[in-house]
Amino acid sequence: MENCLFCKIINGSIPSDIVYRDEHVVAFKDINPQAPVHILVIPTKHIASLAEPEAADGEMLQHVFSVIAKLAKDFDLKNGFRVISNVGEDGGQTVKHLHFHLLGKRKFAEGF
Ligand code: 5GP
Ligand code: ZN
Repeated sequence: MENCLFCKIINGSIPSDIVYRDEHVVAFKDINPQAPVHILVIPTKHIASLAEPEAADGEMLQHVFSVIAKLAKDFDLKNGFRVISNVGEDGGQTVKHLHFHLLGKRKFAEGF
């Protein structure tokens, strides 16, 4: 989609540090990391947020989570990690292309 930052990262017109890519999923390092490991995992299909999945996206989302689990292994997050998806204004979403933050190598507080 035009004017979408993450679509531009997917098509390479904006450079990023890509750590994984296949037909359906791209993962790259967050430009402003909140933990020693901070990776954004996104579908190559432009979906605005978790508020707008379609029935047909189920398999793709399942794949996104298998990539997250693979990256957690690759980045040695055996002690645990956190996965976050911000949705909409109140959820703190700044980029309107569905993304999952994978955060690791930092001890987060319990709960919220
Ligand atoms: P949100 O706040 O929408 O959940 O997360 C957006 C994330 O995208 C933020 O953590 C922000 O640091 C990251 N981000 C914004 N612009 C860029 C960019 O140009 N490149 C990369 N790699 N990350 C970005
Ligand atoms: Zn997009």
